[in-house]
Amino acid sequence: MSNKIPYRFYLSEDQMPKAWYNLRADMPEQPDPLLNPATHQPIKTEDLYPIFCEKLAQQETDSTTPYFEIPEPVREMYRIYRPSPLIRAYNLEKALDTPAKIYYKFEGNNTSGSHKLNSAIAQAYYAKEQGLTSLTTETGAGQWGTALSEACSYFGIPLTVFMVKVSYQQKPYRKAVMQTFDANVIPSPSDTTEVGRKILAENPNTTGSLGCAISEAVEKAVTTPGCRYVLGSVLNQVLLHQSVIGLECETAMNILGEYPDIVIGCAGGGSNLGGLIAPFMRDKLKGKHNPRIIAVEPASCPSFTRGRYAYDFCDTGHVTPLARMYTLGSEFIPSANHAGGLRYHGMSPILSKLYHDGYMEAVAVEQTKVFEAATFFAKHETILPAPESSHAIRAAIDEAIRCRETGEAKTILFGLTGTGYFDMVAYSSYHDGKMTDYIPSDADLQKGFDKLPKVD
Ligand SMILES: *Cc1c(COP(=O)(O)O)cnc(C)c1O
Repeated sequence: MSNKIPYRFYLSEDQMPKAWYNLRADMPEQPDPLLNPATHQPIKTEDLYPIFCEKLAQQETDSTTPYFEIPEPVREMYRIYRPSPLIRAYNLEKALDTPAKIYYKFEGNNTSGSHKLNSAIAQAYYAKEQGLTSLTTETGAGQWGTALSEACSYFGIPLTVFMVKVSYQQKPYRKAVMQTFDANVIPSPSDTTEVGRKILAENPNTTGSLGCAISEAVEKAVTTPGCRYVLGSVLNQVLLHQSVIGLECETAMNILGEYPDIVIGCAGGGSNLGGLIAPFMRDKLKGKHNPRIIAVEPASCPSFTRGRYAYDFCDTGHVTPLARMYTLGSEFIPSANHAGGLRYHGMSPILSKLYHDGYMEAVAVEQTKVFEAATFFAKHETILPAPESSHAIRAAIDEAIRCRETGEAKTILFGLTGTGYFDMVAYSSYHDGKMTDYIPSDADLQKGFDKLPKVD
């Protein structure tokens, strides 16, 4: 059949997006503003300049400009590994015996192995443009640190990465990749910052958390001249940059004559999901289409499904502004879940608002079910998925099975955010039957909620 949709569909270079899309510009109600942690007054753009570079601070607080032109040097680096393919999962459909059409956008075709490079490039570029002399960041599972290391070495900016200690121990080769790109990698909590020393004194055996690594990176940025902090998820600016994923999907599906009935993405801090859904959520907000939009999170770190919609700190050390979001409390330290990239206590304020207002759904899935889906997917689609991405696979498979039961031929689109080559400890524990499904009790979660800041 000549008009059959291909397995892998790539846009041509001139069909790639030339601007990022800012979903806030089309939201009927805005997320609540960031607050100064000391005064509880809304943060002004200039207040962010000591932490973020100026262009990024402006993007962070801009809720009216719908499109931001992608600077040419950023587009140049995008062209090295983009467009990413939109893949029709014919084999998976057959294996599931489902009438559903399943598409996935594969973001794992770059050295960082994930979508995170899309924002890393933008952030490193703006820092260079401003004349900054170094950057700091945190990394959980290591994908963000790797992505930013690549981007910083491309634009020539020295980088220090605070890596969550449990990942540093479980993934020594991640560190080696970052070092290849000249990054300085420090396990967090560390004794190189005041906040790290304080956390270690209170809890010497802690395996760390993203929230804690963020505190250390921010402290280093604000105490080092010419240095700024960059973050790989949660922030509005990161969702903006990640819109390149959704915009490519929109153009590709348009060319193929398709539109998704269901859009699914895994949710850690919300950046890949926010980017993937951006144009589809825009259509939904404008009443043009009504796709179901589903966030998938680990049952061990259930920010959307069991969290509170409240103002909270973005980090454990309480040095960042307060954001209103779905949160488990900034002192919640998740169990050593293997899906390191989904271990964050909070969630993007943009997605939190959309979820709160009923524009999207969320499901929490258990780890062994996620790895069952990951291995099934790998066998049929030949890609070894990242554990984080496999949360989306789980939900997509469940929706496709539902279609088999109801006979509905829905079009499902999900985000395959990355590859799992650095997660073989987790795969081994699954194959050896040693993987567990730790789910926090209500009492565990209450401890986190009790520590939420009081904001009126
Ligand atoms: C970091 C990461 C995630 C989760 O982060 P979001 O900001 O929620 O997108 C998902 N998948 C992969 C492969 C990652 O590296």
